[in-house]
Amino acid sequence: MANRDDVTRELAECTECGSVYAARRWPNGDIQTIGSGSCSCGSTDFVLIDDVEDAENIDSEGSPSGVGTE
Ligand SMILES: [Zn+2]
Repeated sequence: MANRDDVTRELAECTECGSVYAARRWPNGDIQTIGSGSCSCGSTDFVLIDDVEDAENIDSEGSPSGVGTE
């Protein structure tokens, strides 16, 4: 399979404030958030989150749903 145009849908987390956005990962490794292209805090640095299940449920607020309170 040589799907070089295989853009995947991922979750990306802002490296500055931790907000989570739905994003696209391009075959060349670029990560681009869907919609704005930058975080509401102004950062454009994002890291992918591996555990992608419901990207469509992540809204632009990106508030974490506090699981695992200790
Ligand atoms: Zn941010």
